[in-house]
Amino acid sequence: MRAAIIDQPGSIRVGDVPDPNAGDRQLVLKVGATGICGTDLHIADGHFPPTPYPIVPGHEFAGEVVEIGADTPGDWTIGDRVAVDPSLFCGYCTPCRSGHGNLCANWNATGDTVDGAFAEYVAVPASTCYRMPDEMTWQQGALVEPVSCAVHGVRQIGVEAGERFLVVGAGTMGLLMQQLLQRGGAHVTVVDRNEARLGRATRLGAVRVGTDVAELDERFDAAVDCTGAASAIEAAFDSLRRGGRLLVFGVAPAEARVSLSPFRIYNDEIKIIGSMAVLNSYGAALGLVASGAIDTDALLTDTLPLDEFPAALDLMRSGAGLKVQVLPGGVDA
Ligand SMILES: [Zn+2]
Ligand SMILES: [Zn+2]
Repeated sequence: MRAAIIDQPGSIRVGDVPDPNAGDRQLVLKVGATGICGTDLHIADGHFPPTPYPIVPGHEFAGEVVEIGADTPGDWTIGDRVAVDPSLFCGYCTPCRSGHGNLCANWNATGDTVDGAFAEYVAVPASTCYRMPDEMTWQQGALVEPVSCAVHGVRQIGVEAGERFLVVGAGTMGLLMQQLLQRGGAHVTVVDRNEARLGRATRLGAVRVGTDVAELDERFDAAVDCTGAASAIEAAFDSLRRGGRLLVFGVAPAEARVSLSPFRIYNDEIKIIGSMAVLNSYGAALGLVASGAIDTDALLTDTLPLDEFPAALDLMRSGAGLKVQVLPGGVDA
């Protein structure tokens, strides 16, 4: 089959690899759509430590069941359309056994540490597959994974009706976060240094948009950083009212540090909260996308065939588009 292969950091090609076979309790899918996210850029550059090389990346995907492995529980049928939670938690370590599989000590994920879905076919544990309603498109299915990360993030920070939230970063994750918070009853202000991204936030219901948190001159009940930039995290922190909450959702380099006022954390009882990937949130996210509660179509700007994977990666890197997807099954899939 055709697949995008990263032989080693910086070396990206589309070539032929053996078709995957369904192992025990696995399904093989014919891939319909696969999204590119920042992690794929890190994997391509060698900046995602868990990744072994060579690897076929691709962890945001949906496809059609074409093979069912031995001893697979559930009533799977050839032709079932599924979206896939890439998480591969070990189930044995202390975090897994205490309900925190996303913090697994032996963390793995389809497309991050084992071959993923920038390929015509992919083998995945049946336990990570979720049936899609007939009317849901492959493109929507491939956006369930980022939505499921946002669902976990919203659960981490919590939202109450009428709260004033600040979302920093109007990329795919920021706009998903915005929509989820609005569904929870929040009034959401969205800030992005890239003014071109703010129109979409307004159309999706932001009460206010801006290019600089400091210029807003407003105090928020809670803030979500979706950039991972130290300056953005600091500005979001400084914008909180007393008793406010800050969710650190964007991915910063491991060595990055921020400068926050410990006096304010103490005196104003500021809560700083983290959120890592997906935790029991994939099924909920699929429901939100399927019902139209979360608009993913508004975020998808580019779809390319598999053979143009290197160009798709460059497009993502340039920041010209928002969500870029590859359609390994052909554009009409
Ligand atoms: Zn991702
Ligand atoms: Zn584990």
